[in-house]
Amino acid sequence: MSKVYRLFANNFEEISHVLRVAWRAIRWEQYLQQNHRGEVLASLHWFDVQESFLKTRNILSSFEPHVRPHVMAVIVAHVVSRAYWGKMEQGGVPAFCSFCNQSHVPDFTHIMWTCMGFNTDRPMCPEALVQRTLGWCDPNLSTEENRRVLRHMARVRAEVVAARWAPAETTAR
Ligand SMILES: [Zn+2]
Repeated sequence: MSKVYRLFANNFEEISHVLRVAWRAIRWEQYLQQNHRGEVLASLHWFDVQESFLKTRNILSSFEPHVRPHVMAVIVAHVVSRAYWGKMEQGGVPAFCSFCNQSHVPDFTHIMWTCMGFNTDRPMCPEALVQRTLGWCDPNLSTEENRRVLRHMARVRAEVVAARWAPAETTAR
C-alpha cells in the first residue's frame, strides 16, 4: 500500500479518502491492542476487513430501534460472555452453561455458535473470522445472510445482558 499522494486543487476528495482509510487503519490497530478480542483478530489487517466494515455500517440502519443497540454492541465487541464475566468479577470461569444447562464453559464461542440454548434460528458459524467474532458483514454473503448473523448475535447479547442483571436465584449457575 505504498503510493505517494500529492495535493492538487482537484484531488481533495482522493486525499480525504486516503486519510480516512489511514485513520481507520490506525484505529483498528489501537482497537486490537485494547480489546479483549483483539488477540483473536490479530491476524487481520485493516485492509482485510475494511470492506466488511463499510458493508456493516451500511446495514445498521435497517435493524429495528430495539435491536440496534445490541447490534452496535456486537460489532464493537461489547459482548461479555458469562465465562469472561466470571473470570473478571467472580474469581473463576464457570464450567457450566446456564443457557443450555450443560457442562460447557459459557465463553463467547460457545454462546454464539454452539450453545443449544441459542440454536433456534441460529445461522451457521461464519467462516470469516471478523464475522464470527464481531458480526461484521462477509462481502461474499448476501445482505440478508449478513443481517441474519448480526440479528442472531444481537439476540444472544441481549439475553446474556438480561441474565447478568437478573435476580441471583435465576443466574446462580
Ligand atoms: Zn450453553
